[in-house]
Amino acid sequence: MPQPKYRKIAVLGYRSVGKSSLTIQFVEGQFVDSYDPTIENTFNKIVSVNGQDFNLQLVDTAGQDEYSIFPQSHSMDIHGYVLVYSVTSMKSFEVVQVLHEKLGNSEQHTLYLLVIKYEEGKKLADSWKATFMESSAKENQTAVEVFKRIIMEMEKADGITPSR
Ligand code: GDP
Ligand code: MG
Repeated sequence: MPQPKYRKIAVLGYRSVGKSSLTIQFVEGQFVDSYDPTIENTFNKIVSVNGQDFNLQLVDTAGQDEYSIFPQSHSMDIHGYVLVYSVTSMKSFEVVQVLHEKLGNSEQHTLYLLVIKYEEGKKLADSWKATFMESSAKENQTAVEVFKRIIMEMEKADGITPSR
């Protein structure tokens, strides 16, 4: 059995878009309706994808807006980003675009966009060469697929990006 691979993933996006709900749905298999929106929490989960175990560290951030600053040191050890916006908030859609710009089009990072309004989201994801998925934190299966998918994308990128 190969050793588990350690992967750190940050969940970013505007406040109240469902970052915590999605993360907890993935980690605990349940939809939590109210969760303190101000706290940043780190969750650990071991998940198996294509026969490989991954030791995931998920950083469920307290949320960002267009003015948030990302210190370089913070982004250094993150392998992948899940960018979340809500269909019910145009503002949150704008915020993911600003976040993506701020993160830089760094080749090192597999950027991941999660949205529900299909056409606009798909177009934006394509322009970033990012993967696009629809998901609801109320459905366990789609929440799990998000994180499994980013692992697979990171695995694909592993051979072509500097290893960390
Ligand atoms: P965060 O601030 O981005 O972490 O957002 P939360 O996870 O705390 O969710 C904010 C609110 O949106 C809560 O009331 C959740 O119950 C609700 N919510 C989260 N995800 C979904 C979803 O996929 N569908 C619906 N309908 N509501 C959601
Ligand atoms: Mg939250």
